[in-house]
Amino acid sequence: MAMPHAVVVPYPGSGNINPALQLAKLLHRHGVYISFVNTEHNHRRVQATVGAAAVRGREGFRFEAIPDGLVEADRDAGDYDLGLSAATSHRCAQPLKELVRRLNGTAGVPPVTCVMPTALMSFALDVARELGLPSMVLWGGSAASLMGHMRLRELQERGYLPLKDKSFLTNGHLDKTVIDWIPGMPPISLNDISSFVRTTDPDDFGLRFNILEANGCTKAGALIVNTFQDLEADVLEALGAEYPRIYTIGPLGSLLSHHITDDDDSSTGGLSLWKQDTDCLAWLDKQEPSSVVYANFGSLTVLTADQLVEFAWGLADSGHRFLWSMRDNLVPSDGAGLSSLPPEFIAATAGRCCLTTWCPQEEVLRHPAVGCFVTHNGWNSTCESVAAGVPMVCWPGFADQYTNCKYVCEVWGVGLRLDDVVRREQVAGHVKQAIEAEEMRRSAMGWKEKAEDAAAPGGSSYENLQSMVTALGSVSA
Ligand code: UDP
Repeated sequence: MAMPHAVVVPYPGSGNINPALQLAKLLHRHGVYISFVNTEHNHRRVQATVGAAAVRGREGFRFEAIPDGLVEADRDAGDYDLGLSAATSHRCAQPLKELVRRLNGTAGVPPVTCVMPTALMSFALDVARELGLPSMVLWGGSAASLMGHMRLRELQERGYLPLKDKSFLTNGHLDKTVIDWIPGMPPISLNDISSFVRTTDPDDFGLRFNILEANGCTKAGALIVNTFQDLEADVLEALGAEYPRIYTIGPLGSLLSHHITDDDDSSTGGLSLWKQDTDCLAWLDKQEPSSVVYANFGSLTVLTADQLVEFAWGLADSGHRFLWSMRDNLVPSDGAGLSSLPPEFIAATAGRCCLTTWCPQEEVLRHPAVGCFVTHNGWNSTCESVAAGVPMVCWPGFADQYTNCKYVCEVWGVGLRLDDVVRREQVAGHVKQAIEAEEMRRSAMGWKEKAEDAAAPGGSSYENLQSMVTALGSVSA
């Protein structure tokens, strides 16, 4: 019997590459042959930041690359992310098809038995169908965000979208309009379903693309979600009506820790698009338990110079020590990362903060010194924080981040939400409360335990991974 062979095709951003790589490592550990497909642009970028070894692969795990279809001049555009979405969905199908054919003709490589894209890559599901191959899709967000994004179509049909008037964007309409008919979800404001509701344009690309992509996931033979049964039981049950098979296998980081030895990990490496600073871990080692605020806004969020200053003084005024991971392009207008911070702030916080540009976030969140996380609520960050039992101060701004924030603050009781307009007093106040409040800490520890149970042998995520491997194996038999 040939080994099952999964071609894993992540959307080319950290939020999808990271969980896809974690999943690929887990499957490889279980005897699945992996072809992990980056875009040529990211392949080169990983080689430049992490080193060529990161994408060299090893026995049964190969890295491949296809063009992302974007012309070089568009890489610096303000709407880079949407441009990338348009390019991949229009121009990647043919290169992927050619890659699968080439893999099938390569001596020593088992025939491809499953195409496994992440969300936003539904063209790969069409390729699978055309080639007569089974497919599974990894939705990189929460189950609730998938349900919400699938329902954008119905919101359009029922006349909620596009918004009738530009004033609806600012007059409270988005918060006041409560949607109480989404299966498996508590009543939720229009605002919290997705940032893509914020349009008056009937032909808005972001809205159209997300409707197509979320609903496009149903074309896959199975849905894989980086969440766990207890965390999202209601919405998972409701999604069950729309998918033939759902595998919840989260938190992926926790599941990996039950399967991978250090030796395994180093050989496939990480795929960081930024140079990682590990010195901050040594700084954390010197701090008291649960005393440090960790702040980070993920790989895409950008701040204005004013927002940066408000966050900076908010962190300083909280009175707590803090670790702040700031990408070089966090404030694009300044383009200078850490040097955009006011000198008075640097002087005032000397000795009680650690500033870095990109850190090993999962390790940071699991460090005993970390007591709260100021986050943009990207799903990976949110899930990593839940798994580590760290309360959150939430500042969502894009796509599914609003839904994640709602669940964090109102359903799981592990966070506090900041207003859209950043004010240092509120940042300082929420940070103090999140790091000091007993009740929130207890809730966070409760979810951490549940996450650990799900990922341990006998737990729902652990067992789902085994079932997934069995399903992959039965196709190749
Ligand atoms: N991340 C990291 N170091 C950093 C910042 C982020 O390793 O300094 C990782 C983080 O652990 C997460 C991913 O990058 O896995 C960000 O994904 P998320 O879904 O939270 O946000 P996005 O970048 O997609 O907005």
